[in-house]
Amino acid sequence: METKDIYVFAQQTDSVFENVVFELLSEARKLCDTINVTLPDFKVVALLLGYSVKNNVKTLFEHGADRVIVCDHPNLAHYSTEKYTDVVSQIITTYHPDSLLIGATVVGRDLAPRIAARVDTGLTADATKIEIDPTGEHPTQLWITRPAFGGNLFGTIVCPNHRPQMSTIRPNVLDSDFFQHGRTGEILELEYKNDSESLVKFLSRIPKEEHGVNIAKARIIFSGGRGMSGHFDLLEECARQVGGVVAASRGAVDMGEAPKDVQVGQTGKTVRPTLYIACGISGAVQHTAGMDKSEYIIAINKDPQAAIFSVATLGIVGDALEILPHLVEEIQKLQQHSES
Ligand SMILES: Cc1cc2nc3c(=O)[nH]c(=O)nc-3n(C[C@H](O)[C@H](O)[C@H](O)COP(=O)(O)OP(=O)(O)OC[C@H]3O[C@@H](n4cnc5c(N)ncnc54)[C@H](O)[C@@H]3O)c2cc1C
Repeated sequence: METKDIYVFAQQTDSVFENVVFELLSEARKLCDTINVTLPDFKVVALLLGYSVKNNVKTLFEHGADRVIVCDHPNLAHYSTEKYTDVVSQIITTYHPDSLLIGATVVGRDLAPRIAARVDTGLTADATKIEIDPTGEHPTQLWITRPAFGGNLFGTIVCPNHRPQMSTIRPNVLDSDFFQHGRTGEILELEYKNDSESLVKFLSRIPKEEHGVNIAKARIIFSGGRGMSGHFDLLEECARQVGGVVAASRGAVDMGEAPKDVQVGQTGKTVRPTLYIACGISGAVQHTAGMDKSEYIIAINKDPQAAIFSVATLGIVGDALEILPHLVEEIQKLQQHSES
């Protein structure tokens, strides 16, 4: 059976898209541009499910979609595993996408395996990289990379015999650099047909209380590891002085130095700040997987052999407790300079 196009699940809540949607659309755009060299008809298609969401299609076109399939119905107002799986699976069996990309959010991690099982295809979960078969042999075959064996290795997975090729991709690992103001495309409205009795009844939604800072959106991060134990107040003070936030390695979180919410890495969050300052962090691969895409990385470690130096833009060998105050002074000078 002929399959075509790269589909992206456009996750939204109350008409606000998850950032990962724009990252996936940008990536799909790049993949599609490569495929278009041999198959000019391949498109980026966004799937928009929800209620009163039709007005949001413009944003999806501007971020790279050529076509948006919209299913707008009161039954889809709140995410439901059952209903969303039904609709997306129905879209797959009707339109035969070649691949389907979903953000590895809580919703995406719930939805993707259900769909994969329903349509009998494979799923590469929690991916960090996607490319088209670099051998050039199969122009639409995705090579999807994800951490494996506890993050000690990266595995590249292909799905040669089933379609769509499905993957959930971690937020913040891809660039969301495609944006064309006023770009438009084709809208396909899908009728919601499912009136079977649901096993789950939606009563109400209780928004999660936000505690502290959201490190995933921060521009400057002071990140502390086990080497900073007992001195996280110094990191807080440094962050306060230059408008940054504090994050931590799992080593530090396990010691109770910082809450799990601010853990960076494979089992924490992926961050991409302008400046990441790693203090007393050894640089285990499970940690660097969550921060190595930061624009500028400064690592301070007593051990000149520490692995963190291999991902750092600037490495400082020494005691973080002594170096940090000087570093903050220099950052402040630069900030004042750029303001004047
Ligand atoms: C499945 C799995 C998932 C994991 N997920 C994550 C994850 O999401 N995030 C994560 O971070 N880890 C994760 N880990 C743990 C990871 O492997 C490391 O154990 C952890 O990152 C180590 O934390 P650390 O660098 O703070 O501590 P350490 O490895 O103990 O390093 C402390 C460093 O501080 C330096 N130091 C000490 N004192 C000073 C000082 N005064 N000034 C400067 N340097 C100093 C030392 O030289 C040392 O390099 C995971 C592990 C597994 C198995």
